[in-house]
Amino acid sequence: MNEIKLFCPATIANLSCGFDVLGLCLETAGDEMIVRKSTEKGVRIIKIDGADLPLETEKNVAGVAALAMLEQIDSPFGFEIEIYKRIKAGSGIGSSAASSAGAVFGINELLDNPFTRKELVLFAMQGEKLASGNAHADNVAPALLGGFTLVRSSSPLDIVKIPSPIDLYATVVHPQIELKTSDARSVLKQTVSLKSAITQWGNVGGLVAGLYTQDYELIGRSLHDEIVEPLRSVLIPGFDLIKKSAYTNGALGSGISGSGPSIFALSKGLETANAVAKGMSKVYDEMNLPYEIHVSKVNDEGIKII
Ligand code: ADP
Repeated sequence: MNEIKLFCPATIANLSCGFDVLGLCLETAGDEMIVRKSTEKGVRIIKIDGADLPLETEKNVAGVAALAMLEQIDSPFGFEIEIYKRIKAGSGIGSSAASSAGAVFGINELLDNPFTRKELVLFAMQGEKLASGNAHADNVAPALLGGFTLVRSSSPLDIVKIPSPIDLYATVVHPQIELKTSDARSVLKQTVSLKSAITQWGNVGGLVAGLYTQDYELIGRSLHDEIVEPLRSVLIPGFDLIKKSAYTNGALGSGISGSGPSIFALSKGLETANAVAKGMSKVYDEMNLPYEIHVSKVNDEGIKII
């Protein structure tokens, strides 16, 4: 095999109560990428379609993740990468993670899989470090492993894949405003009260238990964020109205996707997820705010070979 074409999925990190530790993988939103062997050693990004992102290997998350991986293995050949961006950078649905994860996954396949998907997470995290200054795994882990993932510890890295209930669907709306991850981080406080922490870890435990037992009501009751959402949601236009309309249309829960500005909702069944999308669209239509909206089943597989 000389070349491989991939679907690199979008992901929702945090999921309300799971700030920096939980994430899930989407099925209908994502980029495409081609990774090809080349006689010239090293990594070159030869094409980026659909976004204005750097082609220089060291400035693109795909290149940085690939180089981190190739430091650990002696490859007899080099690699060319073509990126077909369909997820906008800075949307809060893991645009950088899709590229970081895609690059390491594709190279691993062309090298006959010397690394497991879990091992690839560590390399892909180096791409995230370039994008946000912080080597976090909450988007690259679900992109590579699929389903829901929990980053139990990032040092040493310990990732747990959590089964996804069969009828769980996500709706994600991306208002077309720019919200820099650094700005979304700067509003956070460095300490939390014991009372908030207790509520938050009760909800994280409840969400994980709900996912394992397919208890949709418990999932819904647990999708709350005491700590980050109250500080961040003010940066997102119409956040309260969107969230309210998600609940009105039957969603189990709703919150900020990643560092925003995208807002997600989880629902039981496609019909409800579509109704939630309609309600969210109405809110932004009335505000005259352009947006993109996705409805997707949870993608249990992660990155796919096309
Ligand atoms: P997201 O949460 O959507 O991944 P981030 O703000 O975390 O958005 O990351 C996007 C940042 O990473 C932007 O500054 C972008 O220029 C940079 N970047 C570098 N290479 C890529 C790439 N291949 N795909 C997406 N973003 C990239």
